[in-house]
Amino acid sequence: MAPSPKQYDYIVIGGGSGGSGAARRASGWYGAKTAMIEAGVSGGTCVNVGCVPKKMTWNYSSIAEAIKAGRHYGYDFGGNVPANFTTFVEKRHARIKVLNGAYESNWAKDGIDLIHGTATFVSPHELEIKPNDGGESYRIAAPKICIATGGYPIKPEGIKGSEYGITSDGYFLIKHLPKKMVFVGGGYIAVELAGVMNAIGVETHLFIRHNTFLRKFDPMVQETLTNHYEELGVHVHRNHPGIKEVVQLKAGKDETDPREKELKLIMNDGSEMVTNELLWAIGRAPEVRGLGIENTGIKRMDSGHLLVDKYQNTSVEGLYALGDVTGQAELTPVAIAAGRLLGNRLFGPPEHNDDHLDYDRIPTVVFSHPPYGTSGLSEPDAEKKYGKENLKVYTTKFSAMFYDVFPPEEKKKMPTQFKMICQGPKEEIVGLHIIGDGCDEMMQGFGVAIKMGATKKDFDSTVAIHPTSAEELVTLR
Ligand SMILES: Cc1cc2nc3c(=O)[nH]c(=O)nc-3n(C[C@H](O)[C@H](O)[C@H](O)COP(=O)(O)OP(=O)(O)OC[C@H]3O[C@@H](n4cnc5c(N)ncnc54)[C@H](O)[C@@H]3O)c2cc1C
Repeated sequence: MAPSPKQYDYIVIGGGSGGSGAARRASGWYGAKTAMIEAGVSGGTCVNVGCVPKKMTWNYSSIAEAIKAGRHYGYDFGGNVPANFTTFVEKRHARIKVLNGAYESNWAKDGIDLIHGTATFVSPHELEIKPNDGGESYRIAAPKICIATGGYPIKPEGIKGSEYGITSDGYFLIKHLPKKMVFVGGGYIAVELAGVMNAIGVETHLFIRHNTFLRKFDPMVQETLTNHYEELGVHVHRNHPGIKEVVQLKAGKDETDPREKELKLIMNDGSEMVTNELLWAIGRAPEVRGLGIENTGIKRMDSGHLLVDKYQNTSVEGLYALGDVTGQAELTPVAIAAGRLLGNRLFGPPEHNDDHLDYDRIPTVVFSHPPYGTSGLSEPDAEKKYGKENLKVYTTKFSAMFYDVFPPEEKKKMPTQFKMICQGPKEEIVGLHIIGDGCDEMMQGFGVAIKMGATKKDFDSTVAIHPTSAEELVTLR
């Protein structure tokens, strides 16, 4: 007879942002006997192939931009300033290893049983674990199981040779820069990674289906950033007909080195392009492969994401889901917060019985060039929700003082642009969109105000900090 499964109070599937938040709160704060199963590398997408390496690479590219700016300020760097991308990538990998270890030691401190393996549901409250070390499979069970398995980047189906391209996961393996790189997609991942490659000297092509990118964001952002990317030298292929076939002319040395790689892209309109690397950034799918969801009865959305209510309850009692696998605001702090609040609700004292994440007015940043911060609604969404006649929209556009020493024709190309969307007679701010240097850091503070229901009057009554770009937000007319 098979041994009975080891029993826990709580099992968390996935050791990424959401899983970590969920397990640490339940075990570390409330002492629930908790197991966490992680099939890959601890820390999940954010630490290994998402926010962290992306932001570090964005920082690397900011230095290239600062060197250019430095010349206008009178710094003399001589000719080309040599840069070693490989050295940077090795340092980035080393930093990520430290973070992987930090995650695991925090879990151990919190008393979580970390299981390196793949979990598959055999019934709603019992999982089969296939250990990563090739050991015998075994079962564990719990009355409460949280699914935080994240998502994965997809490649298009039905395009011959699409497998020769990479996704954002493969991007972070590159140690040697290709001469030319094509990005397909108009979402924030394509825009961020293409912006970085362009800034560090790679001939960068961005294929977008429409006339602008970042289509989920405010039209001001779409127009300003798409135009600015062109000014920066990104070859933005607007209204691109799409790729019909990818032909590998020459393989790269390995996945870290696409310098010699050659791909011929044949487009749907018959045109062709040869590139060293191709990156598909066309979306992400919920990671439920091999999870045995069919053995639970959990309802899914048409997109395949797990369906949850505002408390992260799935359609099956005692089974919860959060983070990217649910498709709700796919951001690291969202997954962490949802995990922590679920832990409070399931294992905390009665005052936490109603804990759940409020998904309204979540501030976020796109690490484009320059960065873009936002909270709340775009203008079209605000019009749909409140009616155009109930909105007042304030905008401003200027060149930041940083560019005052640039030649005038370059200065005027560096956009700083803000939009504030206000609703009702009290002019409550329901959408804020800020593009420009420093907007990434600026946004968090304004995010608090907007979450609290700040009005235009609140902003106006705040004394400006001078000289900054941010001060323009408290003096909007
Ligand atoms: C390129 C890129 C850049 C990004 N930049 C940002 C950013 O700047 N800011 C931001 O907030 N967000 C960013 N994100 C999004 C952010 O990374 C995700 O929203 C976040 O990581 C989601 O956390 P999660 O816990 O839901 O999933 P994940 O972090 O993906 O964790 C899921 C974990 O579950 C494990 N798993 C899956 N199936 C199983 C199984 N059957 N058994 C055991 N384990 C399993 C996986 O190995 C994985 O480690 C970025 C994403 C990408 C791809």
